[in-house]
Amino acid sequence: KPLVFSGVQPTGNLHLGNYLGAIRKFVALQANNDCIYCVVDMHALTAQLVHEDMPNQTRSITAAFLAAGIDPEKHIVFNQSAVPGHAELAWIFNCVARIGWMNRMTQFKDKAGKDREQASLGLYAYPSLMAADILLYRATHVPVGDDQKQHLELTRDIAMKFNLDYMEHIRRTGYGIDITVGDEPVHAYFPMVEPLIDGPAPRVMSLRDGTKKMSKSDASDLSRINLLDDEENISKKIRKAKTDPDGLPSELAGLAGRPEADNLVGIYAALADKSKADVLSEFGGQQFSVFKPALVDLAVHVLSPITMEMRRLMADPGHIDAVLRDGSARARARADVTMKQVRDIIGFLY
Ligand code: ATP
Ligand code: MG
Repeated sequence: KPLVFSGVQPTGNLHLGNYLGAIRKFVALQANNDCIYCVVDMHALTAQLVHEDMPNQTRSITAAFLAAGIDPEKHIVFNQSAVPGHAELAWIFNCVARIGWMNRMTQFKDKAGKDREQASLGLYAYPSLMAADILLYRATHVPVGDDQKQHLELTRDIAMKFNLDYMEHIRRTGYGIDITVGDEPVHAYFPMVEPLIDGPAPRVMSLRDGTKKMSKSDASDLSRINLLDDEENISKKIRKAKTDPDGLPSELAGLAGRPEADNLVGIYAALADKSKADVLSEFGGQQFSVFKPALVDLAVHVLSPITMEMRRLMADPGHIDAVLRDGSARARARADVTMKQVRDIIGFLY
């Protein structure tokens, strides 16, 4: 079975972008894959060191996973800091990755802001820890939003360099696997991960600015629909969402150069499990005053069962902690196998 890994940071309120870009895919992938889903609490230190309520933030992401339909018994749900292998492998990857590679990462540039000298070293090394998260389980498939595409390319570069630099050691220890890269057969330790970034809304944009992605860390709550928003809030945010004065086009080409319209159509399509073309054939020629209420109804219909279940789960933190404890123990057992082999490959005595 293919191995799927992905993570979400406990950095604030989960939003529609997290749901459509990540969590909804996590749920769908359970049927045919072995899945590991992680609350990446160590990543949450990279931009901000001190968090008001890390335990409850961690529980809230876990509750969202469960409420959306992830089965923590058939698959693994855990928090990153509970498995030391993530930090250990990240250090090794810090030594594999090149500074020139890291300097190209757009997320660092966006998050570091103007005063880059004051950004943490952790924020800079974020993609190296992310590569470790995935490769610690030798995962092959990673469902993420489009904003993480560059980090997954870096993960492949790190895996490839490790495989090539340690080629002889990998052969000698016998831990290798035969993979193909392009058409070339390669004897490797780490697989080449495939990003799973598809669907009509791979990057959900802010409701206030169609050129910025919807983010947990955006200061404006009106920019996003939170998974915990009630019907009234969802309705208010969609009604206030920025649009242009034109109505909806009948053809996809009519969305070009209209980022806000494109975003709302993409959201509708993703929520309805349709293509954007289907949505336009239904709403083409209509005004936003007609489309927005339909979008509100659809969003409430899809999100409210998840919201209710999240609230129910959050009322019993003991249960969530038990899920994480069990998942962490199972993740640790797998991670320990990789770390033992990596130590052998590198030549660390232990
Ligand atoms: P932060 O602003 O703290 O980085 P975030 O909203 O980007 O928060 P993350 O925890 O960094 O959330 O990302 C979790 C997952 O959600 C990742 O797979 C990411 O690609 C996906 N994701 C985040 N924002 C969006 C978005 N606007 N559209 C689609 N997917 C998204
Ligand atoms: Mg992010």
